[in-house]
Amino acid sequence: MQLDDTHPPTSVKGLVFDVQRFSLHDGPGIRTTVFFKGCPLRCRWCQNPESLRSRPEVAFYGENCQACFRCEAECPHGAIRRTPGRRVDFDGCDGCGRCVRVCPHEGLRQVGAWWSAEALVAEVLKDRDFFVDGGGVTLSGGEPFAQSPFLEKFLPSLKAAGLHVTVQTCGHFSWNHVAPLVPLVDLIYFDLKHMDPDAHACCTGAHNRRILENFTRLVATGARIEPRMPVIPGSNDDRANIRATARWLAQNDIETIRCLPYHNLGEAKGRRIGIKLEPLTVTDAVETAMARVQAAFAHEGIHAVIDD
Ligand code: SF4
Ligand code: SF4
Repeated sequence: MQLDDTHPPTSVKGLVFDVQRFSLHDGPGIRTTVFFKGCPLRCRWCQNPESLRSRPEVAFYGENCQACFRCEAECPHGAIRRTPGRRVDFDGCDGCGRCVRVCPHEGLRQVGAWWSAEALVAEVLKDRDFFVDGGGVTLSGGEPFAQSPFLEKFLPSLKAAGLHVTVQTCGHFSWNHVAPLVPLVDLIYFDLKHMDPDAHACCTGAHNRRILENFTRLVATGARIEPRMPVIPGSNDDRANIRATARWLAQNDIETIRCLPYHNLGEAKGRRIGIKLEPLTVTDAVETAMARVQAAFAHEGIHAVIDD
């Protein structure tokens, strides 16, 4: 990926940490997925911890580091350490990326860069010949709707180019900012993590009131919404939560939910950027939990699709 800029922007730009091509799991058909950086939630099972902070960062790949310390001389903040396995003082680092540019061994990598809407549109349009079977562009994260001023510029250009747009959201956003964007989106994957407010706060660091309000408002617009639920054995797969989720969907005239299996991918990624996720106790084998959740939803009259 060609990064546009790692310096703080002087105009409205989007903070993006990855652009993935040929994605088969982020919406219909073959898609290019843009990962926005910055998220209002802190889910304990987060699989993309590099998406959490709303600023560029640097990641340390200790297995590549040859201890040449070229990075140390380049850092303007004295944030490079000689401690084995802990090259970066993440509290002192501002993500400027100067160390990344001088490292000859890929011991350091930039995570996040500021993109203009024009540059990001040009980047995704490189792939348009591959957007077959209803494919297009997916905005993921992090929370794409947290960058609504940038989306006001980016989304109209995608629609003008005739691209199908899917947005994956955690639902925790300002409705007033997002409502004008809804007509520019073809499909919204909306995550429902827990229906109990206290359990939701415990799992994600935030109350679920705003999320549920936004869900209802989106439904009322007539937007195409597909709810999703990351199934975390021991955190949200109990019968009471499945029943409450199913009843919420029924109230909103929705008959299907996508269930996402838990993968423990976030821990190692988080270590590289100095984020330690609070440990989770996973109480059941993932396959067993998925089958149980699917059956519990069926019992409540909701069709649960198991996603990859
Ligand atoms: S990204 Fe910038 S501030 Fe952070 S360690 Fe590298 S040179 Fe220093
Ligand atoms: S420049 Fe790269 S290889 Fe050299 S010490 Fe820094 S991280 Fe390690």
